[in-house]
Amino acid sequence: LVSRKKHPEDTLVSINNVKVGDGRQRLIAGPCSVESYEQVEAVAKTLKQEGIKFLRGGAFKPRTSPYDFQGLGEEGLKILKDVAKKYDLSVISEIVNPKDIEMALDYVDVIQIGARNMQNFELLKAAGSVDKPVLLKRGLSATIEEFINAAEYIHAGGNGNIMLCERGIRTYEKATRNTLDISAVPILKQETHLPVWVDVTHSTGRRDLLLPTAKAALAIGADGVMAEVHPDPAVALSDSAQQMDIPQFQNFVSSLVESGLYK
Ligand code: PEP
Ligand code: MN
Repeated sequence: LVSRKKHPEDTLVSINNVKVGDGRQRLIAGPCSVESYEQVEAVAKTLKQEGIKFLRGGAFKPRTSPYDFQGLGEEGLKILKDVAKKYDLSVISEIVNPKDIEMALDYVDVIQIGARNMQNFELLKAAGSVDKPVLLKRGLSATIEEFINAAEYIHAGGNGNIMLCERGIRTYEKATRNTLDISAVPILKQETHLPVWVDVTHSTGRRDLLLPTAKAALAIGADGVMAEVHPDPAVALSDSAQQMDIPQFQNFVSSLVESGLYK
């Protein structure tokens, strides 16, 4: 169902009347974790100023250590929804438990399935059974074929509004948190008809690489870029090393505009 061979035409995913996959590149930005209304609002205000429509934030956080901040849960989704309403933004947030998919429909405009859950087949089936766009991230060690099959699970359940997100894979290289597989972008565009995003924050894990990798992503044909922004990254409850602060983010957006790759 997701194969380009069977369906040559690009799938456009419409999120509150903003289309992804129509040739205009988009940005998804927001904090790694939702921490408070004020924190999310500070970012949302900036998105509004920059003309960006997609606000991300993690409420259910799949953390490597059980002792790390696990997210605010449903309360975090409510914060995202309230802030998004005030600033006319769409919400993208990760759901980790199949039984929370129905609940999430009240709060999010896009259900994110994270890298650690790319092959959580019950979660994929649950996301496939609802009428809500899904952003599916590539698993930490998933091949492109496995990634495409995960998308197929969602489509097979009846939900064709799927967007793929390359977020870096595990390799022996330690200079970056993961290795951004940039060639996955044109391969996924050739093999499927789905929109393709690149998450520059989780792939690199390095603030100094966000702009060059975002440029590369747009140049190679990604439909959009995801990046994390926090009003005060030094005190962030997760991913403090690679989130941009607000002036850095404004500079990131204006540098992308200047490059001519993002309009
Ligand atoms: C995220 O986007 O919040 C996240 C946890 O990313 P990933 O699933 O790609 O690690
Ligand atoms: Mn993060």
